[in-house]
Amino acid sequence: MKVVLATGNKGKLREFQQMCEYEIIPFSDLLGKFEIIEDGETFAANALIKARTIYEKLGIKNPSEEYLVISDDSGISLPILGGEPNIYSARYAGENATDKDNLYKLIESIKEKNVTTTPAYYTAAIAIVSKYGEYVVHGWMHGNVIDEPRGEKGFGYDPIFIPEGYELTLAEIGDEVKSKISHRGKALELAKPIIKMLKGKQ
Ligand code: IMP
Repeated sequence: MKVVLATGNKGKLREFQQMCEYEIIPFSDLLGKFEIIEDGETFAANALIKARTIYEKLGIKNPSEEYLVISDDSGISLPILGGEPNIYSARYAGENATDKDNLYKLIESIKEKNVTTTPAYYTAAIAIVSKYGEYVVHGWMHGNVIDEPRGEKGFGYDPIFIPEGYELTLAEIGDEVKSKISHRGKALELAKPIIKMLKGKQ
């Protein structure tokens, strides 16, 4: 059974590969690159849309192979902004925004509230789709965001996110520690026994 990751996000792929002991194949290696319309209203709905789309396309392309598709839909929420950007984290600064555009748009929104730091949390929904069924698990990471970027590691909003109990931003802390405390790391811990059980069925 091949384990395929339904993401084109290099930061996420790197984190998944570090956290899993089996090979994780990015979907683009098997199907090339294409866009998936994520029009769900929750992280869970969007994670399922991505995993189902890739699972169906793989089945059409190679019906004799068994695939297990994992996807991650994630984002950051700020209570001071009424929970924004939430599921819109990847397009906060517009449809074709880069990670940097989104980061600076969020810094602008924080400054508009006349604060230099404010509570925030990341959510990750991981969906798993295989012929034996569909599963979704969640993980969260709480902390604070600041109004200027610090550090070069991580991706997305990491340069302004300081996890609870730390003084450094995730972009200063790096992947090794991040994977132990992150929303994605926590969701993956819940996903691992499900993946193990599904792999055992082949
Ligand atoms: P998705 O690929 O549609 O799930 O979009 C995720 C969005 O949330 C992207 O803009 C990411 O930059 C942001 N995001 C999700 N997880 C993280 C993280 O661990 N660090 C930084 N940004 C993240």
